[in-house]
Amino acid sequence: MPKLFIPGPVEVSEKTFRAMCRPMIGHRSGDFKKLYGGIQPRLKELFGTTQPVFLSTSSAWGVMEGAVRNLVGTGKVLNCMCGAFSDKWFDVSKKCGKEAVALQVEWGQPVRGEQIREALKAGGFDAVTLIHNETSTGVMSNIEEIAAVMREFPDVCLIVDTVSSFSVVPIPMDALGIDVLLTGSQKALAMPPGLALFSASKKAMDKAATVKGSGYYFDFAEFAKNQLEDMTPSTPSISHIYALESKLEDIFTEGVAKRHARHAENNAIVHEWVRKQGLDFFAPEGFRSKSLTCIANNKGIDVAELAKKAKERGFIIDGGYGKLKGKTFRLSNMGDETPATMRELLAALDACLA
Ligand SMILES: *Cc1c(COP(=O)(O)O)cnc(C)c1O
Repeated sequence: MPKLFIPGPVEVSEKTFRAMCRPMIGHRSGDFKKLYGGIQPRLKELFGTTQPVFLSTSSAWGVMEGAVRNLVGTGKVLNCMCGAFSDKWFDVSKKCGKEAVALQVEWGQPVRGEQIREALKAGGFDAVTLIHNETSTGVMSNIEEIAAVMREFPDVCLIVDTVSSFSVVPIPMDALGIDVLLTGSQKALAMPPGLALFSASKKAMDKAATVKGSGYYFDFAEFAKNQLEDMTPSTPSISHIYALESKLEDIFTEGVAKRHARHAENNAIVHEWVRKQGLDFFAPEGFRSKSLTCIANNKGIDVAELAKKAKERGFIIDGGYGKLKGKTFRLSNMGDETPATMRELLAALDACLA
């Protein structure tokens, strides 16, 4: 099988797959509670929170929609938009019947704190949605800058998607004052798709208690109630939770700081290659993702042909997302990749481009 270097799903290790194949247990059994409760301390440490970390059997979009349904009541939601995923969050908010306001910046640019401040000055907002690392454009917005602005609006909840940046760079939820921090399994965590992880601040939980019509499957109060007994509201994907336990073991054996450093090094190796090839970055300096690189095709490369040749050599790369197809291509350095595996990929691309 060729190896995945697309920005999600990413390559899954043998160890993680093996963990998923453990025998099933009852989701209300003592064994399950031990499994679920046992991973909480490490999850909290990774999230940088003292709040419980909830596990949702859904893709990230389940919780992205759920956060809007739980935290946006009669007020408005400000959707920060700078690429495919963040743009879609605006549509999802409207589909949930919420009064959604678009803060649109050009694809390839970050969302700036100042823009959020200006938008929130109109008043009447319940929440802001932000994608920390916009996977479609390879742009990482400055979460410290944005969190600082949000502290000027204490009545507004900050919902942050970290699907492709979680455990790549530090995102200390409580210290930053993030109200909902969410991620998915198949990107930065290098697990198969199907699980979402999230945590909610006390402010978020208090707000959720006042919002009507948030449904059942993603009801934050249901998650909190079940969490008291180390359980989930409905039968979770227990196989994914085994995989998560195994992944946490990997992360803490390596060390969280070392994991961040490895991703930075992987990313720097790709950046060096981009410069050597005379290619450009789609994202501006200072806002380039640490988990993937979105490369601007300034040399008129036949990207589809490059991807085809790379696949023949055993590497799957992404030929650009949506309207950026062919104009950009993306290389992931997330998950379990190392400087050595990144160099293997880049050597193959060199051969394809020669
Ligand atoms: C992939 C991705 C999502 C969507 O994840 P699903 O698992 O498909 O729901 C959301 N946000 C970001 C930033 C992503 O990269």
